[in-house]
Amino acid sequence: EFPHQGWNLDNSYARLPESFFTQLTPSPVSSPELVIFNDSLASALGFQSKELQSKEGIEIFAGNKMPETAYPLAQAYAGHQFGHFTMLGDGRALLIGEQLTPAGERVDIQLKGSGRTPFSRGGDGRAALGPMLREYVISEAMHALGIPTTRSLAVVATGEVVYRETELPGAVLTRVAASHLRVGTFQYAARWGSKKDLQALADYAWDRHFSDLPAVQNRYLSLLQQVAARQAQLIAKWQLAGFIHGVMNTDNMTISGETIDYGPCAFMDTFDPKTVFSSIDVQGRYAYGNQPRIGEWNLARFAEALLPLLDDDEQAAVDQAQDVISNFASQFRQEWLNGMRAKLGITNEEKQDISLVEDLLGMMQQEKADYTNTFRALTLGEYPADTALFAGSAFKQWEERWQSRLGRQTCPEAESKQLMKRHNPAIIPRNHLVEEALAAAVDHGDYDVLHRLLAALADPYAYSPEQTAYAVLPPPPSQPYQTYC
Ligand code: AMP
Ligand code: MG
Ligand code: MG
Repeated sequence: EFPHQGWNLDNSYARLPESFFTQLTPSPVSSPELVIFNDSLASALGFQSKELQSKEGIEIFAGNKMPETAYPLAQAYAGHQFGHFTMLGDGRALLIGEQLTPAGERVDIQLKGSGRTPFSRGGDGRAALGPMLREYVISEAMHALGIPTTRSLAVVATGEVVYRETELPGAVLTRVAASHLRVGTFQYAARWGSKKDLQALADYAWDRHFSDLPAVQNRYLSLLQQVAARQAQLIAKWQLAGFIHGVMNTDNMTISGETIDYGPCAFMDTFDPKTVFSSIDVQGRYAYGNQPRIGEWNLARFAEALLPLLDDDEQAAVDQAQDVISNFASQFRQEWLNGMRAKLGITNEEKQDISLVEDLLGMMQQEKADYTNTFRALTLGEYPADTALFAGSAFKQWEERWQSRLGRQTCPEAESKQLMKRHNPAIIPRNHLVEEALAAAVDHGDYDVLHRLLAALADPYAYSPEQTAYAVLPPPPSQPYQTYC
């Protein structure tokens, strides 16, 4: 059986109505070279890791060959980009199929950067090596942090150049996802499809992501509730980790609740809710502090798309949708507060916990404290004297409040410390570290720096001595850090 690499693809998405996709094969590239490969993920997905890395295996990641069971297609979707509704679709990616894994899971295997599609508009359908390596590093770091995310299986350098502001080496990323269903997929169906199409999509999403839930009265209302719950959990995890997605358009919001599309994302250093890294987000629409509200806004667009399925009575449908949407903020808040309690080693609930957390964040903002390293210091109980936050008397007072709060719970101190260690990463993919690793790889073909960074990020809660170097802050940048789509 060709190609003997463990490919075990089904193509359930291709059984949706034809309007949801366009079948087409990837555009070949001249001289593919595997530059990074995710061994442990490959094995977990049922691949024969070694054979996948053979010359023949690499041809698949490059899009030059397809496994026999593949059915490559570009998905159609729409979306609100910075608030404006538009038709989109896979302009530079192809779903090649769904790998059925030994664990009984079904995951999309997608090539990103595989050439033009009918949805490419003015784009070249290609991707540059730097951004694809960046997606690889950050998505794998997110996974290790315990944040739901698409994964990265491989990056192949194409041997061809792509033309951006300058000539850049081209690459194809193999992305793995619970699915690539987006809020924008539903917006597409609601806007241009029949009610039957919309229902087919909703049933498909339900079967794929929520079928293990007990039977429900109204599965479309339940779909909305479940997506709301997953997004509340996801965005709470982003906030708790200081992750800024950067481009929370509705086409980049998954139904599965995984983080998707690592373009302009970055982790916040200094705590400031207004933090924005994306060069195109001039208004700060997708700033750190706005992410929960944008999540709610996106969810409202999802609810709108589902309206025809919720109830035959239009007003009843709207009322049901509004119930779910109006619940989102408190759902998020609860997830976030529970996460913050864990970050502070708190195991029970007190009303004043909110002010304990908010007062800490207020001081951090005031003193321009590093987000990750502040919680790291609290976890270690070591407060560097040269850090403005820790030098002040306000912090000392807060610390006493925190300690007496911990004293009011029955949880043993050692357990509380362990809880903190599991919720406060010792390291994150710091912007300067990621840039340094990418520069070595892209400019000098030296992947060692990248591999060492990946190894350190693979267990961000280890608090191992080797990680200490990765927690050191860079000198203040001469210019604000900027990211690009
Ligand atoms: P994103 O900002 O990554 O979410 O992408 C938004 C839309 O632009 C999607 O439809 C992408 O497929 C498309 N797109 C992004 N880059 C390219 C490219 N180089 N060529 C064609 N389409 C692209
Ligand atoms: Mg996108
Ligand atoms: Mg993108």
